[in-house]
Amino acid sequence: MAVYDQTTTNLLVVWRLASRPNARVQVMGAGLACCSLEVEAAAATGLLVREEAEPPKPEPPTATVLVVAGTITEALEPALERLHAELVQQGPVRVMSFGACATSGGPYWDAPTVAKGIRSFPVESYVPGCPPRPEALVAELERLVDSMAAA
Ligand code: SF4
Repeated sequence: MAVYDQTTTNLLVVWRLASRPNARVQVMGAGLACCSLEVEAAAATGLLVREEAEPPKPEPPTATVLVVAGTITEALEPALERLHAELVQQGPVRVMSFGACATSGGPYWDAPTVAKGIRSFPVESYVPGCPPRPEALVAELERLVDSMAAA
């Protein structure tokens, strides 16, 4: 998963959480560095199950989540901001900062070209770690889905 300079629609993936089979979470992964491998690992190990495009989607997703995973350089920041703005146009978006880099700059916090975390839009949740484990991503998605169900 990565930030691409094209429409976001084709990059949105709907996942089912193995532990919450009725929840459909539409995830946009902004994979900027090594943390994105942990996001991929969550899928590879079956914690997240990708919903196939066919047959057609039965109902709207339970939630749309932008997962920012990795180091945010100042050069990449505008693309990330555009990505978020495009998603917001399509409906409510929850932003997850996955890992130390997306939260604070991580080990590169004092590099002049690295942003000290997401600063262009609000963040719903922070997942600590360098990197966090795939289970931490899933746990946070579960928390998000459960909190929405309880609201
Ligand atoms: S938090 Fe650690 S693992 Fe994640 S992108 Fe930064 S350096 Fe890589």
